[in-house]
Amino acid sequence: MTERSAPLPGGRALGADDAALPLAQAQALVERLVAPVVGTETLALRSALARVLAHDLVSTVDVPAHDNAAMDGYALRAAELDPRTPTVLPCVGTALAGRAYDAAVPSPGCVRIMTGAMMPPGLDTVVPQELVSVQAQLVSVPPGAVQPGDHRRRSGEDLARGEVALAAGRVLRPADLGLLASLGRAEVVVRRRVRVAFFSTGSELRSIGQPLDAGCVYDSNRYTLWAMLQRLGMEPIDLGVVADDPAALRAAFVDAARQADAVITSGGVGAGEADHLKTVVAQLGEVLFWQVALRPGRPLVVGRLRDEAGSAVLFGLPGNPVAVMVSFYALVRPALLRMSGALEQPLPMMRAVCGQALRKRPGRTEFQRGLLSRDALGRWQVLTTGTQGSGILRSMSQANALIVLGHDQGDVAAGQTVDVLPFDGLI
Ligand code: AMP
Ligand code: MG
Repeated sequence: MTERSAPLPGGRALGADDAALPLAQAQALVERLVAPVVGTETLALRSALARVLAHDLVSTVDVPAHDNAAMDGYALRAAELDPRTPTVLPCVGTALAGRAYDAAVPSPGCVRIMTGAMMPPGLDTVVPQELVSVQAQLVSVPPGAVQPGDHRRRSGEDLARGEVALAAGRVLRPADLGLLASLGRAEVVVRRRVRVAFFSTGSELRSIGQPLDAGCVYDSNRYTLWAMLQRLGMEPIDLGVVADDPAALRAAFVDAARQADAVITSGGVGAGEADHLKTVVAQLGEVLFWQVALRPGRPLVVGRLRDEAGSAVLFGLPGNPVAVMVSFYALVRPALLRMSGALEQPLPMMRAVCGQALRKRPGRTEFQRGLLSRDALGRWQVLTTGTQGSGILRSMSQANALIVLGHDQGDVAAGQTVDVLPFDGLI
């Protein structure tokens, strides 16, 4: 892959507006740049929540193992019911969950049965107890109370032996842990976590606990990045703050690439500064692209760092705190999920009425911080959080969604419908 640092055809310098890659193209390039990590580990079920299943999990048993009752009631043979008048059946015993009634049932006859109890031999239907009347062990079933097979759970209806219970790449959720438990599994093989090293660049940055000299700011990006990585199930490796200095940058990249599958930096990619970072990355590997038609988050270096042990993908994100988050969700998140071996799970995108006019220039994808709520008619409506400066982290903190304005979209009029990514599911 080659660095896009040569002048474009027509003699325009890179950095002109049309040099920025449309987001969809950048996403496609990144997808080709990364592959799932190879290692696996075996974990106890409760440690496997949100981890990625390494192999297809095939059921070795039927779940449930036997036909059983779905309701409390009476198990009977549907063929013994009269469709026109009440049928009276003698009740010959009781089947409890975990304690079967396995004697032969005389015909006609029925058995009192509790939810989850195995169906007695020969009986095919359960009539719920509230539909019958019982007197002296005689059960009267009104006509039409049940159809054959009603309220009987079939053996294997949840999972049949030999069936794929969970596919490789599944990100394990609460129901999946339950499903694994229902198969009697105590452990599960998952992919190892993707190791992601990250550091902040900027001579003005101070870490919490240090005094804040004049002109300095506390480094917040390492906290948002750590948290976003944690939520995605990655293994974050915090490498601290690195000054704006090529030698320090180089040392940090070497250190990061040695430890990690992916490296994320923030800062130092704006006009003027970007050359430092790009030069160092090009020396250690290659720059794939460094401008994306994305707002916020336009200057952004994507490349690869190599060392003897292998290589790490590099995302050099802008320094502005909102741009870090937006470019992470737009570009880095899908790449890291792919590296984790997770099956692709498109995020649910909503359509909502925009309660205000928005300015938008065609030719770039914009993510505005939105507040999603229901209007008086119960429709979803979205407003921005106000000032959309990419340095205003509070706009991200206040928002509960991102308004996504596509590459070709122009200005939005109040009342128009827009795409919205709710934070729940994303963040
Ligand atoms: P840069 O992309 O390095 O030009 O930084 C853009 C703006 O973001 C500057 O105002 C920086 O001070 C600020 N910034 C950069 N990195 C961080 C960080 N880690 N935490 C908070 N602010 C940052
Ligand atoms: Mg900087």
